[in-house]
Amino acid sequence: MVRFTVLASGSKGNCTVVTGGRTRILVDAGLSCREIFRRMKLADEEPGTLDAIVVTHEHQDHVSGLAVTARKLGIPVYFTEGTHRAWMRWLTPRRQMTCVQWLERCREEAARLAEDDADEVAGEPDEGDGLAETGGAAELQARTVEAEPAGPAKEPTWLPAVEYFQAGQAFQIGDIAVSPFTIPHDAADPVGFVLQAEGVRMGVATDLGYVPPNVKAQLKGLDLLLLESNHDLEMLRDGPYPWSVKQRVLSRVGHLSNDAASEFLKKEYDGQAAYVILAHLSESNNLPELARMAAERALEGRASLLANQLLLAEQHQPLSPVYF
Ligand SMILES: [Zn+2]
Ligand SMILES: [Zn+2]
Repeated sequence: MVRFTVLASGSKGNCTVVTGGRTRILVDAGLSCREIFRRMKLADEEPGTLDAIVVTHEHQDHVSGLAVTARKLGIPVYFTEGTHRAWMRWLTPRRQMTCVQWLERCREEAARLAEDDADEVAGEPDEGDGLAETGGAAELQARTVEAEPAGPAKEPTWLPAVEYFQAGQAFQIGDIAVSPFTIPHDAADPVGFVLQAEGVRMGVATDLGYVPPNVKAQLKGLDLLLLESNHDLEMLRDGPYPWSVKQRVLSRVGHLSNDAASEFLKKEYDGQAAYVILAHLSESNNLPELARMAAERALEGRASLLANQLLLAEQHQPLSPVYF
């Protein structure tokens, strides 16, 4: 059985559970661990059966619960090396650490945990919900100060295991094949994914400023497409964000607008997916009806696409699981 469950999507947190065969992975962990577990149970998913976490990029709305979740479950995290380094810098902003030093530190920590009862890690306080990624430098500063390590036992970057992947090179996690591809976004080394299990292909493409040719090429022959539809252009222009943030969202490394998403659906999308899920909708600069209308308009001129089911991922509650 293949199952795709969006637990949360938007600038306050992104997290999706993908099950294929006997393997279950999280794509991003942008909610607190407690909230991830709570939503998994709501969606009838068992947190204890997760095998790994794969990360698209280091923005807070994709990683805020990453370390705690990986530690509680003792599961590996799959990053690109650039994303892993950026994530470590985010958590330890005042410390310079090479990857070799980091690995050494992890070894020390693993040895220490093996000696102890290991319960103190499981008992660590949970992290709060992520701030909006456009929340501004002041909020980021507040988080990073809070994340300063109190000692080796509280090493914030410690993970049970880390696996590196590269965009363009597919890899396997149990029964799920993962193909990462580069996306244009203002992060260190951001990626989207095509996940394949039991012959079912699922594309994850959020946090991208536009749809470049390599992404268009990846999003073909899918059974499910999770596509960003971040903002309505007029709402963003007239909305509450400062000018600099508006520029960032609108830029080629920002976020995909409703118009850009529907342009892709109209002109490039091959219409093969049974499900199209609009995702990463802005709560300040978009309305679900606007995103839906734009996508429906793009699809309606193409009779062959009427079989596509259009869903909207939500920020505050999980979407009903999609089964194949
Ligand atoms: Zn992002
Ligand atoms: Zn994001």
